[in-house]
Amino acid sequence: MEMRLKVCFKCHEFVPILENNYHNTQEIVAFEKFHSGHPVQVVNEEEVANLKRWTGKPSAGE
Ligand SMILES: [Zn+2]
Repeated sequence: MEMRLKVCFKCHEFVPILENNYHNTQEIVAFEKFHSGHPVQVVNEEEVANLKRWTGKPSAGE
C-alpha cells in the first residue's frame, strides 16, 4: 500500500498522511498553516524521493 504525502513544492518539504493518527493530524494542520500560500499538493510517496521531511521549523541551511 502506497503512502500519500502532503508536499510543499516551494520549500521542497513534505509530511506523511497517516490514517487515524492524532499527532499526524496536528502535524498536517501545522504544515498547512506554515506553507499557507505555497504550492502544496498531495502526492504518492515515490514521487518525493528527493524531498526532505518537514520538521515544523523554517529550513535554514542544512
Ligand atoms: Zn512551503
